[in-house]
Amino acid sequence: MKNLIWQIGDVRITSIVETDAGSVIQEGLEMATKEELDKVTWLRPHFVDDEGNLIAVVQSFFIEVGDKKILIDTCVGNDKNRVDIPVWSNLQTDFLEKLGQVCKREDVQIVFCTHFHFDHVGWNTMLVEGEWIPTFPNAEYFFSEKEYEYWKHGPANELNDDANGYNDSVKPVIDAGLAKFISHDHKLADEISLIPTPGHTPDHMSVLIESKGECAIITGDAFHHPIQIVHTEWEPEFDTSVKDATQSRIKLLDESVEKNALFIGSHFAAPSAGKISKENAGYKLTV
Ligand SMILES: [Zn+2]
Repeated sequence: MKNLIWQIGDVRITSIVETDAGSVIQEGLEMATKEELDKVTWLRPHFVDDEGNLIAVVQSFFIEVGDKKILIDTCVGNDKNRVDIPVWSNLQTDFLEKLGQVCKREDVQIVFCTHFHFDHVGWNTMLVEGEWIPTFPNAEYFFSEKEYEYWKHGPANELNDDANGYNDSVKPVIDAGLAKFISHDHKLADEISLIPTPGHTPDHMSVLIESKGECAIITGDAFHHPIQIVHTEWEPEFDTSVKDATQSRIKLLDESVEKNALFIGSHFAAPSAGKISKENAGYKLTV
């Protein structure tokens, strides 16, 4: 399948899909039963199949603006041993070849991870002769300082896979001197800023792109599936603080309506993006 591309003013966003996420997200969103999904007709055909299975992906976003080349989130990665979510263990995907169609890994200048879960930091590193080395050797990797402070001690209530993800996909980047620690007010480019959306993880951030009167929002994992646009209150297993995550979801939806933004869901299956509108007491996505 061809990479999805969106043009927002001077900013070009290309989706690089790594692998499937439907079954993993379904397990974490137990409340998304077929009966509940059937009530939301706009979820079909892109986001739910006939049997009521969620359709979702793991993807990165490659952004070009002026001469800047920026990668948002880096998926699961190859060769990474994962015990809690075995379908994402020891992947051997063609992610780098897909990215290579639009940019050589040596030419990526900025990597930004919305949060530190292992399916958003994986390609930060790759395995070379038994060592995890930065995949993007000439990039600055921007990490939230607060997120780093949370994960560096290996919090006990989190998945083993996320602890391992920190060790094999974040720490080697810091050790190589390529990490820059930032907070919410940092801009990745004049046109690209960050929106704090805590809850899924303690300092999760979404990405706001504004250029020439046009706007897009990349959700990160403030949303995992479009059903959460209707059920912002649903408590997915993977949110660190459900109360904060719900508030962040509502904030991001309101901001999307206000700015008439293209709403790009990091785990949303193709077409992955659409416009948010208010419907009854809630919200709706129109692709
Ligand atoms: Zn994720």
